[in-house]
Amino acid sequence: MATKIIKRKLCKQPPTIQRTFDPGVSQHRRGYILSSDLKWVNSTEIKFIFIEGAEPQKNVVRKAFQTWKALGIGISFKEVSTVDDSMIRIGFDLSDGSWSYVGREILNIPQTQRTMNFGWDLTADSYGMTTAIHEIGHTIGFQHEHQSPFSGIEWNTQAVYTEFSGPPNSWPKSQIDSNIINKLPANQVQGSAWDPKSIMEYEFGPGLVLQPVQYTNGIFPPGILSANDIKGVKSFYPVVAEKSIVKLQLQKSAPIKARSGGQADFIFTAPSTKKYTFQTIGQMDTVMVVSEKAKTENHYMAGDDDSGLEKNSKISLPFVKGRDYLINVRVMYASDNQGGSIIVS
Ligand SMILES: [Zn+2]
Repeated sequence: MATKIIKRKLCKQPPTIQRTFDPGVSQHRRGYILSSDLKWVNSTEIKFIFIEGAEPQKNVVRKAFQTWKALGIGISFKEVSTVDDSMIRIGFDLSDGSWSYVGREILNIPQTQRTMNFGWDLTADSYGMTTAIHEIGHTIGFQHEHQSPFSGIEWNTQAVYTEFSGPPNSWPKSQIDSNIINKLPANQVQGSAWDPKSIMEYEFGPGLVLQPVQYTNGIFPPGILSANDIKGVKSFYPVVAEKSIVKLQLQKSAPIKARSGGQADFIFTAPSTKKYTFQTIGQMDTVMVVSEKAKTENHYMAGDDDSGLEKNSKISLPFVKGRDYLINVRVMYASDNQGGSIIVS
């Protein structure tokens, strides 16, 4: 007996915001910057707020955040109560689809707008939790698996247009292109192989895939985090070992040892209650995040991004005597012969 295929509403991604650069930024440097541009600085506490919604719906999303965190990753999530304090703004507009902007792209979205939406009842069945884990996957920087340039998928394009222009998705051609047909740039994709079991993979019925031939009858991901999803997120955001965090001393520069795409982590204990300034030195493109270190988590305070600009990351903040502050520096690009350093004053 043939299995009945349920046609589901699928995640409907907004188009990627194309980053622009000053003409003086070389292609080589742009490539490096773009390859880690979506990724949050590891150890960041990502703050989210629900701008609407009923508690049972919110609870599915809260549990989905916990599901990612429980894998053992360096980033963390915190629900906040004011929009001013939020990075992620979550809505439940049923007239819209389910979607999320991707990774740090979110920081470009005005605070008056949502960065994630759920367009169907998350409590109806297990697909609600699948949807919530998937959208959070986008929020932390992951893209659709079926759009991986390594998938080798060749679509029956006419069948794909027919399928998704009809109910329940009813997407225009442009949405079908940007969500299914178009392949992503290789430097925006985690890993080098396609994972058809990924939470970031859609379910596709028969007749849509021409190649690889074993998927002509459809792609049916299980709707939970796959082994490769777990491996991927843990290498994207590893838990930072205490012993690898370098202690910063006032007025003494410390080398940033990470290369392009890597991260260097520092800790500073405030000797008195006053304002301190952290600054990178040298020709590097960096994103710097400062957090207060608490017992079990870090509380995000501020971030600065100098990538693609002829300036350095710099953050000034008032600190409290005796407290520990983490300074995480993601190196987006460092030219081969020049390193950089960091100083606190
Ligand atoms: Zn999606």
